[in-house]
Amino acid sequence: MRIVLLGPPGSGKGTQASMLVEQMGIPHISTGALLRNAAKRGTALGLQAKAITDKGELVPDDIMSDMIEERLSRDDVANGFILDGYPRNLAQARSLDAMLERLNMPADEAIHIDIDPEELIKRIAKRAKEEGRTDDAVATVRNRMRVYAEQTAPVADYYAERGLLTQVLGDGPKEEISQRILSVLNTQAATA
Ligand code: ADP
Repeated sequence: MRIVLLGPPGSGKGTQASMLVEQMGIPHISTGALLRNAAKRGTALGLQAKAITDKGELVPDDIMSDMIEERLSRDDVANGFILDGYPRNLAQARSLDAMLERLNMPADEAIHIDIDPEELIKRIAKRAKEEGRTDDAVATVRNRMRVYAEQTAPVADYYAERGLLTQVLGDGPKEEISQRILSVLNTQAATA
């Protein structure tokens, strides 16, 4: 199953994706994690990306598209994947569609984790303390929220128009949210 996971910063996409990996045995592809790894390795691309992510802006589409294409060309995606953090604007959504079409593996399902903005701020403040992500600084978070509302929220509508989107409520214990997502995927698999 090929799944696109959508939701604002702090909505728990990464946590949920990791839980799905255990349940479903398909790889989790997180563009945020790929970018943070590149920055940690100190590659030119990683350092360039870090300057952008630390401001809460989006890394240019062509860089992201190359990164995703490279990742999707590996053998481990044969049985599916969970995409987390991509696509993040309409241009990326269109480019992903074309890429998956070309690779003969169209997306099966998009899940949007729906959550109260107040809760997001609380969660990110907690994560900033625990993980020390430099893009979790208050001013950066505010900008990431704005970028999300302006550029990424329309991506959910894009998948809704294609009949692929399901909204899942993102509040409550993480196990409960995971169950909600799994039940959506099971229903989808049964009707596919
Ligand atoms: P979150 O979803 O909590 O904002 P991520 O780990 O997904 O965190 O992403 C962190 C940052 O990495 C984003 O704010 C952005 O700057 C950059 N990034 C990740 N994915 C993309 C993408 N598809 N396009 C452009 N920038 C991206």
